[in-house]
Amino acid sequence: MWLVQRDADRFTLHLRPAHDTVGPGTRALTARSLILCPGASDRQLPVPGWDLPGVMAAGGVQALLKGSGTLAGRRAVVAGTGPFLLPVATGLAAAGAEIVMVCEANPLRGWLRDPGGALREPAKAVEGAGYAALLARHAIPYRTRTAVTEIRGEDRVRSVRIAPLGRDGRPRGGVRIEVDADLVALGWGFTPSLELPLMVGARTRVDTDGSLVAVVDDRQRAGVPGVYLAGEATGVGGAALAVREGRLSGLAAAADLGRAVDEGRVRRLQRAVRRGRRFATALHTACPVPPGWTDWLEASTIVCRCEEVTYHDLCHAARDLGARDPRTLKMLARPGMGMCQGRVCGFATAQVAAALTGRSPQAGDLLALARRPLAAPVALSEIAALDETAANEEN
Ligand SMILES: Cc1cc2nc3c(=O)[nH]c(=O)nc-3n(C[C@H](O)[C@H](O)[C@H](O)COP(=O)(O)OP(=O)(O)OC[C@H]3O[C@@H](n4cnc5c(N)ncnc54)[C@H](O)[C@@H]3O)c2cc1C
Repeated sequence: MWLVQRDADRFTLHLRPAHDTVGPGTRALTARSLILCPGASDRQLPVPGWDLPGVMAAGGVQALLKGSGTLAGRRAVVAGTGPFLLPVATGLAAAGAEIVMVCEANPLRGWLRDPGGALREPAKAVEGAGYAALLARHAIPYRTRTAVTEIRGEDRVRSVRIAPLGRDGRPRGGVRIEVDADLVALGWGFTPSLELPLMVGARTRVDTDGSLVAVVDDRQRAGVPGVYLAGEATGVGGAALAVREGRLSGLAAAADLGRAVDEGRVRRLQRAVRRGRRFATALHTACPVPPGWTDWLEASTIVCRCEEVTYHDLCHAARDLGARDPRTLKMLARPGMGMCQGRVCGFATAQVAAALTGRSPQAGDLLALARRPLAAPVALSEIAALDETAANEEN
């Protein structure tokens, strides 16, 4: 779906085949209610050398492995933060790769910051213990408070520099090591895809993990009549929570359309969603993006890959041209203006802007980077056809 339009009592959805920008064009559907669950994409933090072949998002590495059994490399470093690093590392190891190290940027005791939330989902603890056993079985070194601060190589990844982190996430003095690798899987969480929710007028907030997410009530309603949201768009929380929210949305939409629904089931789902959200908050609290990560950047590090905007370009825009927020940074230095429209660099740009200007990212800053007029690429002829349809309707 590349566009959704809201009229008085219905939505018009403009759909086209995925991965096909020149084939048969758009068709339109109308609906009275809309349940949107657009998911999320891997959250990226730039680091010197991250644009070399052999550096991939952890989710991409995992998707390749699970989807087609393809090993993205033979000697891997898995780095970032959060429990998602574990299935990636153990999956690669089980498929025959050597895992040089898993670098977790945060200390494990971070989970003690919100023990009430962490214990809400006992199944997750069992899952974690299973991964710990797999790490041991494959003899995978797991280091906390450690990050990849530089990726080296000419034509592709050859080696990786790893540094211990201080409390603020900045590399601290002490032993820095360099290890050979042909694959670096970087996992810094996920960024919700908000194009469709924003098109229909959903409100947003900044979640505990620093992501912009859509606001919903206890029946997944987005505050816009007829719109329900489920899954990562309402806050990154994993597959089980997304399914619970999807079911709750379906029941709520049916009830609002006048169908009889089992209110007992609604209440059970609401409790399950609350448990899942509490756990997700504990996870985000335990595994934040290290606040000092921008210290890893060098002047020549590319932040926006589409427009080849370097860290130096952003510093210049902030210090010499007076950009005080991500939107102005975008106007002056062009991060997020290319093909991906900030899907890859938006979060990092907001964080760099915050570090350069000394103000924490606001919801409005992230909104400016998340709002996109189209949710997917389309041919100009399809947009023109849309105008013709509207003009015909007006006539
Ligand atoms: C490789 C990988 C492994 C994972 N492993 C685990 C795990 O072990 N345990 C766990 O709890 N979680 C895991 N997750 C996270 C889990 O997949 C998500 O939490 C869950 O899928 C979220 O569900 P969702 O419905 O919000 O989004 P998704 O399942 O991502 O579904 C979103 C769907 O919307 C579609 N979409 C988006 N925009 C548009 C548009 N404009 N038009 C049409 N369609 C659109 C997407 O193509 C996608 O099919 C993993 C994620 C990845 C990437």
